[in-house]
Amino acid sequence: MGLVGTMLKTKQAESISREKLEMLKQKRLKRLVDYARANSRFYGEKFKALGDDYKLSDIPPTTKPEMMESFDSVLTDSNITMKRIDEFTADIDKVGHMIDGKYLIFKTSGSTGNPAVVLYDKNNIDVQSSIAAFRTFARREDYKKFMDHGKKTAGVFADYGFYLACGMSKYLQLKMPHKKTKITVDVNAPETKIIKQLNEFKPAMLSGYPSNLALLADFKELDINPDVVITGGELLTDDIRKKLSNKFGCFVQTHYSCTEGGEVACECKEGHLHINEDWVILEPVDKDYNPVPYGDMSDKVLITNLSNYIQPFIRYELTDRVIVHNERCKCGKNTMWLEIEGRTDDILEFDNGVKIAPMSLYKVLEEVKAIRRFQLIQRATDRVELRIISDDPKEAASAAEHDLADFFASKGLNVKIVLSDELPQANIVSGKFKHIYKDFALD
Ligand SMILES: [Zn+2]
Repeated sequence: MGLVGTMLKTKQAESISREKLEMLKQKRLKRLVDYARANSRFYGEKFKALGDDYKLSDIPPTTKPEMMESFDSVLTDSNITMKRIDEFTADIDKVGHMIDGKYLIFKTSGSTGNPAVVLYDKNNIDVQSSIAAFRTFARREDYKKFMDHGKKTAGVFADYGFYLACGMSKYLQLKMPHKKTKITVDVNAPETKIIKQLNEFKPAMLSGYPSNLALLADFKELDINPDVVITGGELLTDDIRKKLSNKFGCFVQTHYSCTEGGEVACECKEGHLHINEDWVILEPVDKDYNPVPYGDMSDKVLITNLSNYIQPFIRYELTDRVIVHNERCKCGKNTMWLEIEGRTDDILEFDNGVKIAPMSLYKVLEEVKAIRRFQLIQRATDRVELRIISDDPKEAASAAEHDLADFFASKGLNVKIVLSDELPQANIVSGKFKHIYKDFALD
């Protein structure tokens, strides 16, 4: 279809009626499912009993472990195998490069279970670019200012590894090496360095994890005037939204994306996350995959990415809890919108008032390959407790201890890291799982 064609289709879908949008979704779903059945051994087998006349709810859901176990047979291109991907991704310089000149490779965080490996084909990349081009900005006036100020974009993210944000931005930089309008600032660099880079660059758009931006906002040395702040990766709370808006004097917004589904929902000026229904089907479901009514909180969601044909994600289970709204939004968009119960990890405060954002520690620990799942609890202003699940706990613990100690030292802290025998667990009262939180021991 090509980028221009995809752009046109994406723009066009914004002004069609709900009925037409439903028909478009059905058409794209059928095309994807039929392609998957014909070209993927995994789906050919899994969808055998489906017949030709099926509804979305007839299609059996898929889980991450299921897809990763059968990785090679899920793919619709038999030239690509996990073995070749392992070889390719062993070279960190390959981030942002395509395997066989055809597919980008991403890995999801390994901290909530085994990491997933996700391939993007050209069509999926074009769709993500089109959504970014038309739906990133909630307000037209911010977009206009951003264009007037030279589209300068700074992202404070983890700028290493095969993760979506990093890999996609490296890919775009490689494609347009002369464009100097985009920088990525390493989220775990010392604050003074981050602030210097941002002050010198003067971004028109600032993006990053909410908790990290909230901490940066405390530094009066940070002197930038972006036209918009766009957060991602964790829940943007009302408090942080207000704080960032006060500091930077601009509109603060968020979006909802995941590696498997791509850009799932974009925020409008009413602060509603509108599902990109032309390219993603999102179903709120309960524990047993039964549909959850509009307006009710789901236990999880099923995502169908309608634009990725190399590694189809069809009714793929994600553990996010959401409320989907079908009432029309005042902004005029034709799509349904959602509220999401996001990660709500704590900002930790150590000796001498040094504050550390949960996302920074999260990024350190997700890099430790041997860890499958973790939980870090602050027990005192100079002590943390680490709980891990790993196939090789000894190796995982020593690597995690080493990397955490390095990170704390870079912040001028000497924090004792205590390895716990307990496993990561949800809060007994709320049932919510936090990766990183504060719970001072009463001793
Ligand atoms: Zn809206």
